[in-house]
Amino acid sequence: MAALVAGLLFGSFLNVCIARLPAHASVVAPRSHCRSCGKTIRAFDNIPVASWLWLRGRCRACYAPISIQYPLVELGTALLFAACILHTGVTWPTLLDAVACFLLQGLAVMDAQTMLLPDTFTLTGLALAFVLKVFAPGISRRGEVAWKTVEDAALAAALLLLIWLLYRVVRRRNGVGMGDVKLLAMMAAFMGLPLALLSYFIAALAAAVFAVVLVAQRKLRGSDRIPFGSFLAGAGIFAIFAGKPILTWYLGFFR
Ligand SMILES: [Zn+2]
Repeated sequence: MAALVAGLLFGSFLNVCIARLPAHASVVAPRSHCRSCGKTIRAFDNIPVASWLWLRGRCRACYAPISIQYPLVELGTALLFAACILHTGVTWPTLLDAVACFLLQGLAVMDAQTMLLPDTFTLTGLALAFVLKVFAPGISRRGEVAWKTVEDAALAAALLLLIWLLYRVVRRRNGVGMGDVKLLAMMAAFMGLPLALLSYFIAALAAAVFAVVLVAQRKLRGSDRIPFGSFLAGAGIFAIFAGKPILTWYLGFFR
């Protein structure tokens, strides 16, 4: 229950980040306002999900429609936080999973909308993962944990940079964005290199299927870009909850 309430509140903040970060605006000031008429939203009309429902998705002042994305992101964060608790209980690793879910959901929406993966999320997330891992209560060998986290993030970034280089040399275009590089490094710092690589594999597969479907429907042209960061972030959330059994199953073939 507490996880749901916390999720709703963090989801509300995540909406602010999604709306403002790609435009390099502050997430602290000014206070939330209607994107249509600019009127400040009163605290009473700014309650996660509930306000959107009783205002029937419209601004109280100008009746402009308010995107359903707002309550959906709030609900999504609440459900993800609750799922983290159900998955691993009230533990320190659960906190890492919840922070990762928050960042990944935000990045997935931002990349889909703006084709941007702001450093405020990827690089801050990378640093946050490092701090949360190294300063986890009750662990020994903090130096080893620190080194492992840096190693995982660096290897993930190096792998994507290699793919970027291959694209440049062989196909003479940018196949990988630098935002994707930072995103995968952040994911590796949170969940370790194996789960991050699994996420990348799933995302590449899903994005390829998505592109084939769009091309078949003639909705995608050669010059169009696919928000790969959204696929990567989505696959990352999937890997947090379902990745370990898949890895175990896959590695079983090599024994
Ligand atoms: Zn308005």
